[in-house]
Amino acid sequence: MPKPLRVAGEVDSWCTRCRLVLNHRIVSMKSGKAHQVECLTCRSQHLWRAAPPGAKPASGQPVRPRAPTRGSGASARAQAASRQEQRWEQATVGHGVFDFKVYEVGGSFHEGELVRHKKFGDGVVTRVIDSSKVEVLFRDEARTLAQGMR
Ligand SMILES: [Zn+2]
Repeated sequence: MPKPLRVAGEVDSWCTRCRLVLNHRIVSMKSGKAHQVECLTCRSQHLWRAAPPGAKPASGQPVRPRAPTRGSGASARAQAASRQEQRWEQATVGHGVFDFKVYEVGGSFHEGELVRHKKFGDGVVTRVIDSSKVEVLFRDEARTLAQGMR
């Protein structure tokens, strides 16, 4: 059973100076909760904080650091590549294993068909070039594959 909070009692709080959750002495209370606290480690007084700044105690998800976004340095080629990857994702994500046709050179494919290549992975037919060639968009790049070979 947790000890009731009271002025001069102790409480865990984020220390703004030590940058750790540490034992603090309650200096003042507000609506049944600690308000002002004094850090027992560095003796600084500050407002009570249950968790480090930026933490979201409500959700159980760990806070993931965001990858730094690149500025204006992204080349047109990289942008085209990410558009292509988006297109690939839209075409393939959410489909089950049975929606993919196993690629083989003897097969015949049509535009929009999902294929599974044993080396390149999942892809979508973006263009039928002719009766013996199709263009397939894989996650990393578009490739021209043979079809209709006997
Ligand atoms: Zn401190």
